[in-house]
Amino acid sequence: MFSVPLESARSTKHGVHRGMSSVTIPPPAFCHRPLEAPFRYLFGPGPSNVPPRVLAAGGRPIIGHMHSEMFGIMNDIKKGIQYAFQTSNNMTLAMSGSGHTAMECALFNIVEPGESVLVAINGIWGERVAEIAERMGAKVHTLVKTPGGHFTNAEIEQALAKHKPVLFFLTHGESSAGLVHPVDGIGDICHKYNCLLLVDSVASLGAAPLLMDQQNIDILYTGSQKALNAPPGTAPISFSERACHKMFNRKTKPVSYLLDMTNLSNYWGNDGKPERIYHHTGPVSGFFALRESLAILAETGLENSWKHHTEVAEYFWKGLEDLGLKLFIKDKDLRLPSVTTIAIPEGYNWKELLAYIMKHHRIEFTGGLGPSVGMLLRIGLMGYNCNKANAAMALAALEDALKQCRMSKA
Ligand code: PMP
Repeated sequence: MFSVPLESARSTKHGVHRGMSSVTIPPPAFCHRPLEAPFRYLFGPGPSNVPPRVLAAGGRPIIGHMHSEMFGIMNDIKKGIQYAFQTSNNMTLAMSGSGHTAMECALFNIVEPGESVLVAINGIWGERVAEIAERMGAKVHTLVKTPGGHFTNAEIEQALAKHKPVLFFLTHGESSAGLVHPVDGIGDICHKYNCLLLVDSVASLGAAPLLMDQQNIDILYTGSQKALNAPPGTAPISFSERACHKMFNRKTKPVSYLLDMTNLSNYWGNDGKPERIYHHTGPVSGFFALRESLAILAETGLENSWKHHTEVAEYFWKGLEDLGLKLFIKDKDLRLPSVTTIAIPEGYNWKELLAYIMKHHRIEFTGGLGPSVGMLLRIGLMGYNCNKANAAMALAALEDALKQCRMSKA
């Protein structure tokens, strides 16, 4: 620790005088307190609790972002993502940033200002993508359902034929509604209309089946902090050859330098050039943690992971129904196994329920998001958190809150 006596220097018009302090803002009081980050059961829609192996990886000494060992770790991450996404795409990497970074990267690189995009909106994530596309000057067309609704392939085809977009966006795991959207056949329909398919799997990767190459998805992204159980802040993404052809044959440069895939593909060693050139300083600790979380998913096996999430979710759904609660997504096959949504029980204030559960059980559940605010509660059991003991703990907390929080005040 360096400590500079406050009376040591003084700044004037002519410079700094020794003997008086030039510092006018005192050190903040928090520096005298130890860091406090309490343990919480993170049973919301993310971030999820992080297993010790991943935490330990993130705590390892930093190496340089351009060291050969770091490039080796980035290559491991790329292979881990190829497995998790089930893709052989060369253009596979992790973004330095959260899920939104991947979302913006996909839009900024694929779409040029003035081009049409079609966005399926059945919760907040379509809304977000429509807003980002609008900000970057795309012509935005939307297909809209109330939260938790889903789109038939015929509806999607009709809209593609009408709007002729260059890109169609769909959320696989709509975490604001608790819906897992069917994907089969949509990639083929998009390609029939010369459109690329962009899919958000932030809340579903590792929890519900998704096969990038077999399902003809052109751009797929996810986040580190959900079923992957890494700390927030990195976001895997992959582009098909078709997507690469579009984004590397643009007339205009992408609006973002940081998210320009020409630069990022070199940083990740995906452009075939012998040398990697500095572009930005990647989150070294975040990449260590992401590598380990991808290794855990690969060791577990994707199919085992999907099956495990479904089994725990079904156990949880049954317990919720036994408590008299109503699941928000009626059709079991459309329920997202990683994030369960329940209708707010009559006679309760949802904010009170959440606050009671946090205070008395140290458990985080959340309410709705965007268009689903006030409609539902969201409970996530993903990856490391996904087991029957945690499901039972969540049920016990809900049962207790239902006893304690009934509104006379309603
Ligand atoms: N898409 C989905 C489906 C999500 O659930 C989230 C995060 N809740 C995001 C995108 C955005 O991710 P982030 O918060 O990491 O930017």
